[in-house]
Amino acid sequence: MEEIKIFCPATIANISCGFDVLGLALDGVGDEMVVRKVAQEGVKITKIIGQELPLEAEKNVAGAAIIALLEDFDTEFGFQIEIDKKIKPGSGIGSSAASAAGAVWAVNELLGRPFTKQELIAFAMQGEKVASGVAHADNVAPAIYGGFTLVRSYDPLDVVPLPTPKELFATVIHPQIEIKTADSRKVIKTNISLEKGIKQWGNLGGLVAGLFTEDYGLIGRSLEDHIIEPIRSILIPGFDEIKEATIIAGALGCGISGSGPSIFALSRGIETAEKVARAMKETYLKLDVDFDVHVSKINSEGIKRIKAHT
Ligand code: ADP
Repeated sequence: MEEIKIFCPATIANISCGFDVLGLALDGVGDEMVVRKVAQEGVKITKIIGQELPLEAEKNVAGAAIIALLEDFDTEFGFQIEIDKKIKPGSGIGSSAASAAGAVWAVNELLGRPFTKQELIAFAMQGEKVASGVAHADNVAPAIYGGFTLVRSYDPLDVVPLPTPKELFATVIHPQIEIKTADSRKVIKTNISLEKGIKQWGNLGGLVAGLFTEDYGLIGRSLEDHIIEPIRSILIPGFDEIKEATIIAGALGCGISGSGPSIFALSRGIETAEKVARAMKETYLKLDVDFDVHVSKINSEGIKRIKAHT
């Protein structure tokens, strides 16, 4: 019997202009998971700490992702999973992705790394499909690669890791209300005008160029979303006030994290990111909703092995 314990980071998907294609990994915020290789075949979730989630392997994104992997790999071993769920499901910072990506990453380690990162992303996407009905990669890709990632294409899957400017920090506020990805997908229109498309892909190109050239001004100017944010922000209490307060506090930009309700801001330097955190807190204290705020550097490593007894 062999086992590993891993840290699975929280992630921010979409990043304003990159709906379903852009994502980044956070540092310090994430789940822990123990995955064990056992003689008995099959996938078993043996323990979940912190949240009420399905224990049946096919209904849990971690189990579903491993089942997808095992369809492509012949082994006489089975796998047991323990999840310490620190990221609340439905928070918009990739709770399901942390489990799906973590599970296949760990199994790949236990099998001697037969799969590439791109292949692991494809298996983890099958886990995401269980959570939201859509096999999206914008959270699982940065969880596996770390840093920023771009899903250039879904068919065939082509994920491009992007560089992370050194002074970039994220501030995230998580209002304690749940918005399921499946629900917040229903409010989105499936057609967009050419005018909005032009603005959006201009910003997406600008953001990617800004990451490569460490041009913080360009990153800030590109953090705009003309398509999804105007519709989804209606579901998030205090969104416009938070956005205004973060920009006044010096953030480069602010938007919805994934499908919400979490709101993220990116800043140059930790002092500004902390000032942004204070501005978010002050704004939210006026509303009758509990919240958490995190300041985080961008995690460049992605999922990683941690000591078994920490
Ligand atoms: P998030 O963006 O926080 O991942 P989603 O709405 O995409 O939120 O996913 C949450 C849904 O996935 C919930 O319905 C939850 O029950 C289901 N789910 C199944 N397994 C897991 C898991 N291991 N971790 C988190 N959510 C899971």
